[in-house]
Amino acid sequence: MTNYLPLAKTLRPKLIAWRRDFHQHPELGFQEYRTADIVARHLNTLGMEVSTGVGKTGVVGIIEGSAPGPVVLLRFDMDALPITEATGLPFASEYDGRMHACGHDGHTAIGMGVAELLALTRQSWRGTVKLLFQPAEEGLGGAKATIQDGVLENPTPSAAFALHLWNQFPLGKLVVQPGPLMAAADHFSITIMGHGGHGAVPEDTVDALLVGAQAVSALHHIISRNISPHDTAVLSIGRFHAGGAFNVIAEQAYLEGTLRTFAPSVRDRLIQRMAETLEGVAAAYGARAFLEIKDHEFTPAVINDETMAAIAYQAATRVIPEKHIERIRPIMVSEDMAEILNRVPGCYILLGAEPEGGAKGPHHNPRFDIHEDALPLAAAIMATIATEYLQKEGTEPPPSTSL
Ligand SMILES: [Zn+2]
Ligand SMILES: [Zn+2]
Repeated sequence: MTNYLPLAKTLRPKLIAWRRDFHQHPELGFQEYRTADIVARHLNTLGMEVSTGVGKTGVVGIIEGSAPGPVVLLRFDMDALPITEATGLPFASEYDGRMHACGHDGHTAIGMGVAELLALTRQSWRGTVKLLFQPAEEGLGGAKATIQDGVLENPTPSAAFALHLWNQFPLGKLVVQPGPLMAAADHFSITIMGHGGHGAVPEDTVDALLVGAQAVSALHHIISRNISPHDTAVLSIGRFHAGGAFNVIAEQAYLEGTLRTFAPSVRDRLIQRMAETLEGVAAAYGARAFLEIKDHEFTPAVINDETMAAIAYQAATRVIPEKHIERIRPIMVSEDMAEILNRVPGCYILLGAEPEGGAKGPHHNPRFDIHEDALPLAAAIMATIATEYLQKEGTEPPPSTSL
C-alpha cells in the first residue's frame, strides 16, 4: 500500500495556494461557480471523468485504478458563509458578507490534493473513486441536491467518506468513531396572533408579545420535563420579533429556532410537546399560535457505520499516530453529509486544525482560521482511506469449488 503522507507533503505549497485563493474568493451556497470551475479544470488536467453543474454548482470527478473493483465516494464541501471576515489575514475575503468561516476552502483544496494523489498512484490501487465537490452544505441542502442529480448512481458507491477540519481540536488530533457523531437539525418558526391596541388600554387587547414571552419560557421546559436525561436534545430560540412602537400592544409575534436531536423518537416527542405547549399557552391568553417545522430544511443525524468506521480508523493509523486518534462525545452541530450516510454506509471524521497560537474564533466566527499543516495531513488520510477500502472490499474470498 502506498504511504501517502510523504507524497501529500510534497503537495503542501499547492494545497496552501489553492486554499488561500478560495479563502480570498469565497462563494455562498449554490453560487460556487468560480470555485467549481477551478476544481473542474484541475480534475480535467488529471485525466478524470468530470461532471459539472451537479446539484446546481457541484463537481464530480471519477478516477479508476489499475484494475476493476468497488466504488467509493469521497465528499468535500465548497461553500462559504454570509459573514464579514475579521481575521486581518493577508488573504482575507475580498467581499463583505462572505467568508470561509468553516474551513470549506480547506476541504476543497484537500479534495483537489486527494485527486492528485490518486492520479499519481493509480497503478497501485484498484476500483473507482468518485470525488464529490458539494455545494451549499451550510443549511441550504446541497447534499440533497447532488443526490437528486444522481451523484449516488452511475456508478453507485458502496461506501462514502468525508472529513471536516476542526479548529477547536489541536493540529493532528483525529476523531474516527462508529455511531452518532453529529446531531439532526430542525428549523422551526412560531407565529402568535393576538389582538393589538393602545398601550394604555390593555383590557381591549391580546398582547402577542407577552404570549410570545410565555411561550419562550414554556418551550424551554420541554427538554427538562418531557425528555429523558439519558437522551440528548437542544431547543434554542434565536429570533423573537414583536411590536413596532413603545405605546402599542403587539398584534403579532414571530419566533424562530432550532432543535437538535439524535433519536427520531426524541425528535417526534419534542415536536409533539412543542405543539401542545404552544396551543395551551396561547389559549390561556386568548391568542392563537402556529408552529411550523420546516421539514424541507431538516438535516438528519450523522451516524457512522461500524464497519466503515473501523476501516477508516485502520487506514488513519497509517498517517496519524494511534495515540492522536480519539473518540469524543457526539456534537450538537449538524452536517448534511448525513444525507449521503443515510443512503450509503460510511464514516465522517474530524481532523484537528487549531491555528498556531490557538483559535481566535470557533467555526462560523468572523475570526475563524485553520492551521494549514492540516491540509496535507487530511489529503493523505482521505487518499489512504479510499484506497484501503477499495483494497479490502475488493478482496473477496475465492469462490468455493465443489468437489
Ligand atoms: Zn459550518
Ligand atoms: Zn462545515
